Amino acid sequence: MIIELKRNTNKETIEDLASKHRAFHIFNEDKNFLITSASVKDLDKSLENHAENHWVFATDMQLSSKDFLNKTREIELKKGLSIGGTQKNTLLIGGPCSVESEEQIRSASQLLKDLNLSVLRGGCYKPRTSPYSFQGMGLEGLQLLSKMRDEFGHLIISEVRDATHIDEIITHTDIIQIGAKAMYDQGILRACAKTQKPVMIKRGFGTTLQEFVQAAEFILSGGNSNVILCERGIRTFETKTRFTLDLCGVAWLQEHTNLPIILDPSHAMGYAYGVPSLTKACMAMNVEGLIIETHPSPLIAKSDASQQLDYNAFRNLHKELQPLAECLGRKIK
Ligand code: PEP
Ligand code: MN
Repeated sequence: MIIELKRNTNKETIEDLASKHRAFHIFNEDKNFLITSASVKDLDKSLENHAENHWVFATDMQLSSKDFLNKTREIELKKGLSIGGTQKNTLLIGGPCSVESEEQIRSASQLLKDLNLSVLRGGCYKPRTSPYSFQGMGLEGLQLLSKMRDEFGHLIISEVRDATHIDEIITHTDIIQIGAKAMYDQGILRACAKTQKPVMIKRGFGTTLQEFVQAAEFILSGGNSNVILCERGIRTFETKTRFTLDLCGVAWLQEHTNLPIILDPSHAMGYAYGVPSLTKACMAMNVEGLIIETHPSPLIAKSDASQQLDYNAFRNLHKELQPLAECLGRKIK
């Protein structure tokens, strides 16, 4: 249950009520809310005098639910650039799977600048499937991303692999990326709840939509309302493509949740040849963002070589997306 408290409720009373009902307390848009488990269906007598409003839910999908907030929540990424709400912006986030060198990440920054795009991606702590593969440049890579932000003005998104370096990620990024393998990490989720930076949480490849949304609830109920969901493909019986992009799931999330959505066709497809068409299908889903891996020489990329677009292919894709965006009344940012 979510309980909106009356405006005049004092701090002490809020703390008492939160503790009595083992509820989360959040302060959002000038209002105080208490959130209990969704198994609570009736407003307790002790809350009656303090409640302005309350919402009952079938499941623990609460703050993220359209039954609570009946629109896509607006998230400000920087002054003058927001996604969700009444904004019809679709981010085209570009950049390599991994930051590999200053020269490489500068070339990606220049590409985005030429196309007037706002957000640069680049992984520095890579959650690889093998311990023998390239694990990322770590802090050195994050410092390179920060340098690019200073030089080019792009917003930076980079992934956190585990809770040990969450502070570095918060310091150096504008959007925190929680990877598909890391989305169950409670240390990461709880740390992301304590910052106000936007967080993009990727769906694990064996994660149900309910589990996915509940991971987002950890961040929302901890006090950070800036959560974005990213569908990046789930594992099915099919092996010809890397994963299966669950666009049906995206339609479900759009119908039932208030969270902005970014789609990642690169990791779903796993092969560059399919990425442009899939990206256009993603654009047609009316989502708040697309995240595409691009590399100056994909064949020699240190991670995810087969799925990264070369810069020409990325430029073509950007061009081909324009009429689709226009048709949807959206602006590519
Ligand atoms: C990535 O974005 O490079 C990545 C590792 O993604 P995912 O967590 O979706 O596998
Ligand atoms: Mn990758």
